[in-house]
Amino acid sequence: MTNHMVPEARMASIRREFGEHGGVNMSVEASSTFTVLDPNTMPALFDGSKTPQEGCYLYGRSFNPTVYHLSQQLAALEGAEAAYCSASGMAAISATLLNICNSGDHIVAANTIYGGSYALTQEFLPAKANIHTTMVDITNLEAVEAAITHKTRVIYAETVSNPTLRVTNISGLANIAKAHNIKLVIDNTFSPLSINPLALGADVVVHSLTKFINGASDIVAGAICADADFITSLMDLHTGSLMILGPVMDPETASKISLRLPHLGLRIKEHARRTQIFAERLLALDLTVSYPGLANHPDHALIKQQSCLDYGFGGLLTLNLGSAERAERLMECLQNKHGFGYMAVSLGYFDSLMSAPRSSTSSEMSDEDLSTCGIENGLIRLSIGYTGTLEQRWQQMEQGLYDVGIINALTPHEKILSVCVK
Ligand code: PLP
Repeated sequence: MTNHMVPEARMASIRREFGEHGGVNMSVEASSTFTVLDPNTMPALFDGSKTPQEGCYLYGRSFNPTVYHLSQQLAALEGAEAAYCSASGMAAISATLLNICNSGDHIVAANTIYGGSYALTQEFLPAKANIHTTMVDITNLEAVEAAITHKTRVIYAETVSNPTLRVTNISGLANIAKAHNIKLVIDNTFSPLSINPLALGADVVVHSLTKFINGASDIVAGAICADADFITSLMDLHTGSLMILGPVMDPETASKISLRLPHLGLRIKEHARRTQIFAERLLALDLTVSYPGLANHPDHALIKQQSCLDYGFGGLLTLNLGSAERAERLMECLQNKHGFGYMAVSLGYFDSLMSAPRSSTSSEMSDEDLSTCGIENGLIRLSIGYTGTLEQRWQQMEQGLYDVGIINALTPHEKILSVCVK
C-alpha cells in the first residue's frame, strides 16, 4: 500500500478480514477479555511487547480485533500509519487533545468550529485541566503564528469549518506547526475522501464517524488517525487518554461502520453533485448561499488545490435568509408541507437535514464569537441528501422558498434545466 494511491484504492488494498466461518464479512469479536495459552504471555501483553499487530489482544477497553480492523480501514482512508476508533467524534477530539496537552499547555484553534469542540476548548479543558485555547481566524496564517506561545502544543482546525464552510489552508498551517515543533490536529468530518489532511502535512486527523462515514444517522462514533506511536500512546496503561478515560468503540458498531465504507465514495460523490447543483440554482435565484464549490466562495481556489476533485466540494451549503424568523418558516415549510428533509442537527445523512446553527449546533459560542465568524440568526445549514430524484427535491425547495415569500416566482422547468444540470 502506498500513500500515492487515492484513498479508495488504499482502502481496497488492505488485507481483507473474512468471517470466522469463511464469511465474506468479518465476524464481530464479542469478547471483552482474551485468553492466553501460556501464562507468560499475560505480562507481555501488559508491558506492550505483544501487540494487536501480532494478533495479541488483552481486554476490550484496550484494542479489540473488530474495532482494530475498522481502524485499519480508516487509517487507509486517511493515508495514516495507524488509527483507532472511539465512542463518538467528541471522544476522538478530547482524547487527542488530552493525549498531547498537559496542564498548563496551550492550543491555538480556529474561531469557527463545531459548538461541542468550542465548549471543550473554551470551557471544559480550561476548567478541568488548565489547558487554555486562543481562538483565531484560521484563514489568517499571520494571526495563527502570532497566537503561538512557548506553551502551545497544538493547532486545531476543521478542514471545512462547521457551519461557516471556510476552508483551512492545511499546508500553510503545517509549515507553521513544524516551525514551532507543535502538532497540527485536523477534524476532517466534513470531507472524508475528498481532502487528505495528512498528505498536506497534518499530524493527526480526527473524525466524527456519526456523519458521512456512517451515512445512516443511526450510530454515534469517532476515529483518530495518526502515526503508530501516537495511536499506541492512546492506549498507554498509565497515561493513554483512550485507555484511562475509556471512550472506546463497541465491536458491533465497528462491524456496522465497516460494512458502509465500500460505498462511501459513491455517497460522497452524490452528496457533492447534488449540493453543487443546489448551490448554483440558489445563487441563480439571487439568494445568499455559501458553498466552497461556487466560484464566488472566498476559498474556492484553495479547496480546488487541496481536494481530490473526483469527490466534489462537499455535501453542505449554507443559506442566509436575514432573520431567524424567515429561516424557521422556510425549514418548517420544507419539512412539514413539502417533505424535502428534516429539521435536525447532524449531517451526512441520506436525507437532507436542516438546522439554524446559531440556536443549535453553535449555541455554545459567545454572541461576540458567533457574530465575528458570521454565524447569523438567519443562517441555515443544509446537509443535502440523495434520496428521491434531484429534480423532485429541487422543486420542493423552490416551492418552499416561494410559499414563505423568499422568492416571488417559480423558475420555469426548461430554464432550471438549462442552468446548471450537469
Ligand atoms: N466534529 C464536527 C465537525 C462535528 O460537526 C461534530 C458533530 O456535529 C463533531 C465533531 C462531534 O461528533 P460526535 O457527535 O460524533 O461526537
